[in-house]
Amino acid sequence: MDSEKPHVVLLSSPGMGHLIPILELGHRLITLHSLRITVLVVATDPSTVRSHLHNQPADVRDLLEVVFLPPVDISPYVGPSTAILSVLVLMMRHSMPLVRSSIDGMRSPRPSALIVDLFATGAFDIAEEFGMLKYVFDTSNAWFLALTVYHPHLPESEENRHVVDHEQLDIPGCPSLVYDDTVDVYMNPENRILHEDYAEMGRDMAKADGILINSWEELEPATLKALRDPKLLAKFSLPSVYPIGPIVRSVEPIGGSSFDCGEIILSWLNKQPQESVLYVSFGSGGTLCIEQMTELAWGLEMSGQRFIWVVRPPTVDQKWGSLFKLKKNGLTRLDDGTPEYLPEGFITRTKEQGLVVPLWAPQTQILAHKATGGFFSHCGWNSTLESIVNGVPMICWPLYAEQKMNATMLSEHLGMAVRSKKAGTDRVLPRKVIETMVREVMGRDTAEGKRLRSTVREIQRMANAALEEGGSSYDALSKVVKQCEIKVQEAKERARG
Ligand code: UDP
Repeated sequence: MDSEKPHVVLLSSPGMGHLIPILELGHRLITLHSLRITVLVVATDPSTVRSHLHNQPADVRDLLEVVFLPPVDISPYVGPSTAILSVLVLMMRHSMPLVRSSIDGMRSPRPSALIVDLFATGAFDIAEEFGMLKYVFDTSNAWFLALTVYHPHLPESEENRHVVDHEQLDIPGCPSLVYDDTVDVYMNPENRILHEDYAEMGRDMAKADGILINSWEELEPATLKALRDPKLLAKFSLPSVYPIGPIVRSVEPIGGSSFDCGEIILSWLNKQPQESVLYVSFGSGGTLCIEQMTELAWGLEMSGQRFIWVVRPPTVDQKWGSLFKLKKNGLTRLDDGTPEYLPEGFITRTKEQGLVVPLWAPQTQILAHKATGGFFSHCGWNSTLESIVNGVPMICWPLYAEQKMNATMLSEHLGMAVRSKKAGTDRVLPRKVIETMVREVMGRDTAEGKRLRSTVREIQRMANAALEEGGSSYDALSKVVKQCEIKVQEAKERARG
């Protein structure tokens, strides 16, 4: 252990979509800067999370400690109408005494910085108590960050125009937010707790020593420029923004615990022609209603394209999926193995065409495979970045959180995805529309297919360049590391008197 190097604590809120980028940031800080990292994990299901941690490379294992905080009971404070954002905020709030005692117990060396995700900014008080630098890692993009920091300052009249009259919301210096792409807080104006929780997140940004985002300079130059506009900085008291992405999981070999189907999937992929397979997945918790699953199944089948589809039992409430209630063994099968909520005989009819995978698939391996040619996705930001770094064009099917903004960025601003504006709304998208989108994205010989591929590859190239030594994201992270090193130096000098 190098006691000269800073020790940094990372704090992740529940959900694989939050933990994965936090862990990857830890890896990057170790492999590029030899920092010592402790990751504090608040998880609803620690055993599932543990199974994702089994494959740490040796150089990382020595410098990385992952600490699972005991689960907290927030059941007295939540009801069926509590928004997921508020559930996460509550869990993190109730975990703070555990975070504090954990940091208090870290002695050699004492940590010099705390990096938390969006839901855990309440830990900044603890960082201050222990004289640590404090950063927030917004694991999404600059556009969503701009909305988050703007939200607490949004004049009521403007908010009403958006929420009540469904007019677009103008975010200073950034692309406007049309109502069809809006986030949950503006779709549920009666939920004042959600409103206040989101406002608090925005306000807390001002307390940070810096904001890290999982994006990069060249991807969102205009929005980043706006976030650095001196007038805006002064108005919102914003600290510096460090775009350090894309931070995504590297492709690890399949083996051991979490991917029971991993070997089967990869050996099937190995037999498929190059870029011929569409990967269909809605993230770690996204689900569709049963009517939509039926249409999706028919749309895939009618397209004739090869596919791998990660399926979960449908929910009645399409919006929130089953992040906390995933029915692990909830797949009742019809005679041929088709889950009961898919069209009868689907597995038999598509057995030469595709694979249906229950619940979870090794996504990074699938997207990195040469046989994969498209990604039908809910546009979670991690999934989006994983698609970009592998140069895979997308079909957007946003479900919740900021995913509709992501879908617009991918389809309209960047041009690397296709989207039907009706996907992810309360309306069921018919099979014919799905079939058309699938053909469009998988069309290797069509003008549109070629355009999508060359666009995403150009973005992939930019992403790689940003991460390389001397690239914008490499430099941004180095600046944060430098601040941590100065902090360590200052502490040493103080100790020497
Ligand atoms: N993921 C996976 N296999 C699955 C579903 C998801 O490996 O079957 C991973 C995916 O690679 C990504 C993360 O889980 O890293 C999901 O994060 P994202 O931000 O895309 O969506 P969320 O789950 O937070 O909605």
